[in-house]
Amino acid sequence: MLDELHEECGIFGIFGSPDAAVNTALGLHALQHRGQEAAGIISMSGELFSAHFADGLVADNFTSAEVVQKLEGDSAIGHVRYSTAGKKTARNFQPIYAQFSFGFLAIAHNGNLTNADTLRNRLIKRGSIFQSTMDTEIIIHLIALSQKATLQEKIIDATSQIEGAFSLVIIHKDGIVALRDPHGVRPLSLARLGDAYVVASETCAFDIIGAKFERDIAHGEMILIDKSGVKSLKPFTPQSPKFCIFEYVYFARPDSAVEGKNVYEMRKNIGIELARELRIDADVIVPVPDSGVPAAIGYAMESKIPFELGIIRNHYVGRTFIEPTDRIRHFGVKLKHNANLSVIKGKRVVLIDDSIVRGTTSKKIVQLIRDAGATEVHMLIASPPTISPCFYGVDTPDKKHLIAANNSVAEIAKIIGVDTLHYISLDGLYRAILKSKRNDENPQYCDACFSDQYPIRLTDKNGGEAPLFDLMK
Ligand code: SF4
Repeated sequence: MLDELHEECGIFGIFGSPDAAVNTALGLHALQHRGQEAAGIISMSGELFSAHFADGLVADNFTSAEVVQKLEGDSAIGHVRYSTAGKKTARNFQPIYAQFSFGFLAIAHNGNLTNADTLRNRLIKRGSIFQSTMDTEIIIHLIALSQKATLQEKIIDATSQIEGAFSLVIIHKDGIVALRDPHGVRPLSLARLGDAYVVASETCAFDIIGAKFERDIAHGEMILIDKSGVKSLKPFTPQSPKFCIFEYVYFARPDSAVEGKNVYEMRKNIGIELARELRIDADVIVPVPDSGVPAAIGYAMESKIPFELGIIRNHYVGRTFIEPTDRIRHFGVKLKHNANLSVIKGKRVVLIDDSIVRGTTSKKIVQLIRDAGATEVHMLIASPPTISPCFYGVDTPDKKHLIAANNSVAEIAKIIGVDTLHYISLDGLYRAILKSKRNDENPQYCDACFSDQYPIRLTDKNGGEAPLFDLMK
């Protein structure tokens, strides 16, 4: 049972590099935190394409000479994905590709479409045959059916019909197209590597290959990269930006800068704001590793209480670890975390974590700290209560499984067994990131999982169509 949120994808593209495939593999490796279940790269040499897809990690599947040599050409795009259990199938690998009347085209997508079922039904009724359950495949069909004259116009025509969150990188025989939805929910940035152009979900993918960050691609912007350089278009009706605020709290890598802000600094600021909201009299500040670390540093700085690594994380736990026998199946959280007794015993501990989803992991971690001899356990959370699911590209449990959607803060404190529980306020989170409070009329970010205010309409959910049939269970 999922007890953490998962970003569903990371995307990368490069044009004009003799080492396009290697650089793409490295970029995807840097983006691995955005999806660990499968990866894919498509490269292009003139009109010919090469593709490689694999389950598992990039470093395990894309670094052999055999794979890299197969991926010929000086341009490539890649994708790392996380998929929910029922949809884990080779048919859902990305980049998704097809041969059109105008030639070959492939798409890598980060985000989620909110009118996917409605559009898919319409396309199926018109005779389209779908090969996957991915919403991205809808974009392929819309491009194929577009009556516009040029590829650029066909892409605009197709992406004007989709709703939701979409950062896309598209490869074709003449170049690369990168675009962000009108609200810019998911990140996408542009860099240079010598004469080559690079786009990626996060700047950490530029650092690994030595590419120089140029700028973020703006919300609603489409850039065309080919031999003549970069052309920027604003093809959509202008909308106010709604970047996902949770990227700062949890999803993005702390060494990345997204939307012009260093993620590590933002997380530290959240810790500082937490300390301003609630100063707890305690002996030690302990992060729940890894994502709680920067906020814990910020809290320790502001509160002047010592920061210690009181929980050590085992990084070698696979996603598919199977508890071997019934007799030892309750080791649960200890697979991943262990208490550092020398730091915890006899102390009043403040635990800092990024979020609480179902609460089951928090409960086990609190018990771990109590078993290690803590005299008090207080828990501070670097995000407001997660009360609503995400429909824009993050895998979230149903509302009925979100502990904060169904319990008050006092009830949650009792369930997970802490002496104090405090979540940062929504305004506190905005102050940490923007240095100003939330604009309640028109929030500066998407914060729907904390506020239940969805900035982009949920067409399928609210009056749209249910799928005609489920392609794959
Ligand atoms: S609902 Fe939450 S996780 Fe999803 S885009 Fe909005 S802030 Fe991000």
